[in-house]
Amino acid sequence: MKIALIAHDAKKPEIVRIATAYQEILRQHELYATGHTGQVISDATGLKIHRFNSGPLGGDQQVGALISENQMDLIIFLRDPLTAQPHEPDVNALLRLSDVYDVPIATNAGTAEVLLRGLAAGFLDFRTIVHGDEEKHE
Ligand code: PGA
Repeated sequence: MKIALIAHDAKKPEIVRIATAYQEILRQHELYATGHTGQVISDATGLKIHRFNSGPLGGDQQVGALISENQMDLIIFLRDPLTAQPHEPDVNALLRLSDVYDVPIATNAGTAEVLLRGLAAGFLDFRTIVHGDEEKHE
């Protein structure tokens, strides 16, 4: 599965905590992140992560581009609900595309824990059917 990890600055300690707690699960998947989020997670865990641009410099849009190709299977996006972001339109676009393509997305640590446990339990296996359908249409 392809998993995207994104956290606004106030939420970076939280995403590092989650990535550390679930690193053995995350290690089995293909990981993507916006620039600084990917850096702090790989520094803390040693996980191999493909890093896009920083969020305000287009990283959210790069994740969105993969979603629009149905290439992203799970997104953990810890938003800071208390601080205005200069790239708010990109954030909204990413959330919207996740809904268009039915990609499971967690915007807070509570949901992130549920989704990662669900991933480990095989609850996201339906995504492989989505990929199977794509192959049939190619
Ligand atoms: P960052 O971007 O990981 O580069 O800090 C996250 C964001 O603000 O969307």
